[in-house]
Amino acid sequence: MCHKTNSNNYHTESFYAMEKFIVANWKMNYGDDEGLSLLKKIAGLSIPKALNIIIAPPYTLLMHAHSILEDTPFFLSGQDCSARHDGAYTGDISAHMLKMAGCTSVILGHSERRMHHKESSDDVRKKAERAGEVGLLPIICVGETLEEYKSKMTKDVIRRQIEKSVPSKNIPFVVAYEPVWAIGTGEVPEPTIIEDNISFIKDLFQTVPPVLYGGSVNPENIKKIMKTNVVDGALIGGASLDIQKFTAILNGLKH
Ligand code: PEP
Repeated sequence: MCHKTNSNNYHTESFYAMEKFIVANWKMNYGDDEGLSLLKKIAGLSIPKALNIIIAPPYTLLMHAHSILEDTPFFLSGQDCSARHDGAYTGDISAHMLKMAGCTSVILGHSERRMHHKESSDDVRKKAERAGEVGLLPIICVGETLEEYKSKMTKDVIRRQIEKSVPSKNIPFVVAYEPVWAIGTGEVPEPTIIEDNISFIKDLFQTVPPVLYGGSVNPENIKKIMKTNVVDGALIGGASLDIQKFTAILNGLKH
């Protein structure tokens, strides 16, 4: 079971108890009143006990989000952090800064970062190490492009990404399997394919991390995706911006 503590740290020994995770990735949306209003609605939700629900709003909302969500069961996450500790890196945000803003985790290696910012798996590993050093839980995203999927390269791609992206130090982390072609497209792999790829990822580890699925999760497909114990949760983009859809997703996991 994952607990919020006074220092906002995860108890790592209980983190490996494999509780389910829901991660809401707002991306570069809702940095204004809309975001504050959504946070207040989220704070009022009653949630299934066995779920860790992590909200990743834009950086500019983090401190507000921290005070709104402070006395709720919701956790706060950054959407990225620097691979460096501090210094002359204009526009970057350090893991320590995220921690100070109230985050307990950080999404790393999202395909949009890998694609638009040319982030390599090596960069992702360094970021994960910086995050772990300050007690943030790295949520490391991997996944194949449509071209790679069609060429049946999925497992090669995710193995390569994982081998290079996960921290070499003894840092707990979560993996999010996100086929790039499923993100924001409404296309979702068959649940058996998701399970097969997540089992493949889990088999790469001796100490198996939680592995989530991400890509066009919505209230209609969440139950099917999370039907078996293989899938430890979901990373949700678009549907997490709509309180009705987000609530329906959470309710879908209650039974
Ligand atoms: C994502 O941003 O990682 C994501 C899964 O987005 P969406 O749910 O909109 O496909």
